[in-house]
Amino acid sequence: MSELIDDFDRRIKYVRISVTDRCDFRCVYCMSEEMTFLPRDQVLSIEELSLVARAFTELGVEKIRLTGGEPLVRRNIDELVNNIGALEGLRDFTMTTNGAQLRRYASSLRQSGMQRLNISLDSLNPERFKELTRTGNLEKVIDGIRAAKEAGFERIKLNAVILKGRNDDEILDLVDFARDEEIDISFIEEMPLGNVSEHSREETFCSSDEVRSIIETRYPLLHSTENSGGPSRYYRMADSHSRIGFISPHSHNFCDSCNRVRVTCEGRLLLCLGNEHSTDLREVIRQNPGEIEPLKQKIRDSMSLKPHRHHFTTDGDVQIVRFMNMTGG
Ligand code: SAM
Ligand code: SF4
Repeated sequence: MSELIDDFDRRIKYVRISVTDRCDFRCVYCMSEEMTFLPRDQVLSIEELSLVARAFTELGVEKIRLTGGEPLVRRNIDELVNNIGALEGLRDFTMTTNGAQLRRYASSLRQSGMQRLNISLDSLNPERFKELTRTGNLEKVIDGIRAAKEAGFERIKLNAVILKGRNDDEILDLVDFARDEEIDISFIEEMPLGNVSEHSREETFCSSDEVRSIIETRYPLLHSTENSGGPSRYYRMADSHSRIGFISPHSHNFCDSCNRVRVTCEGRLLLCLGNEHSTDLREVIRQNPGEIEPLKQKIRDSMSLKPHRHHFTTDGDVQIVRFMNMTGG
C-alpha cells in the first residue's frame, strides 16, 4: 500500500525516473538542434539513482519507468537496471527508449527483470524518420524492436507523436506495423515542453480525436477498460491482439486519476509534468550519502506540492521551459 498520498487523495504508485538528459537523437518536438547538456556531476550517479528507486518502492511505489533523454546512452545503465529489477515490491518495471540501442541491450534488460518496453517510432519512412529525429536511423530502430520481441518482453508498445503535415499521413501505416508485429501502439499529442523553433506547435497540433477518426476509417475501435497505470486510454480492434492507446494531455484531462511523479536526472522530484512544482532530492542525497531515511522523508513531505491539474493549451504558449528530455516523457 502506498504511503504517498497527495492533498487530493491521489495515491502515488508510479514513478518515472529520467536517467540522463543526453540522447543520440534530436527529435524535432523534443530538443533543439544544438543542445547544451548538464555537467556530469549535476546528474545523479548510478548509486544515487538506485537509492531513489529503492526509497520509492519502500514508500509503496509499485511501478518504475526509466526514461530520459535516452536511457540506453547512459553509461552503466545495466547496473541500474539490475539494482532496480531486484527491488522488492516492484510489480511493473519498464523503460521508454528510442530503440536504437536495443539490439545490444534488450536481452540483458529482460534478464534483469524488466517486463515491458515502450519504443518511440514516429515514421516508417527512412528519410522522414531522419528528418524527425535529425540523427536517427530507422533500420536500426526496427531491428531494435525485433530484438525486444526476441528477448520476450511481456508487452512492447510503440509511442508515436503525430504532427500535422509531418507524419499524420502515416497513422494507418503505423497501426498496420503494430498489428503485423503483434505489439501495441500509443499516439501522443505533442506537448508544449521547451522552446522548439523547428516548427510551430500551433500548426502541427494533431488531436487524439483526429488520429482516432483516421484509424476508424480502416479499423473500428472498441473501447477497452484496460489500464496500464499510465495516462493512455486504450482501444482494441476486433481482429488483432494489438491495443491502440491515446495519450491526450490537451483534449482529455487525465489529472484526476494521476498516480505519477517524476524524478529528473538531476534528482529533482517533479510532482506534475505540466507544472514547475518540484523539490530537490539531490541535495538531501548528497548531504546524507547512502542514507535512505532522510530521502524517504523528503519524498513524503513533497506530496503536498502535487498540484491538482496541468494547464496545457494548444495556442502555442510555452508554459514550461523544461525540455522533454529533462523531464522524461
Ligand atoms: N528517448 C526515449 C524515447 O524517445 O522514447 C525516452 C525519452 S522521450 C522524452 C519519451 C517520450 O516523450 C517519447 O515517446 C517522445 O516521443 C515523447 N516526447 C518528447 N517530446 C515530446 C513533446 N513535446 N510532446 C509529446 N511527447 C513528447
Ligand atoms: Fe531523444 Fe527521446 Fe527526445 Fe527523441 S524524444 S530527442 S529520442 S529523448
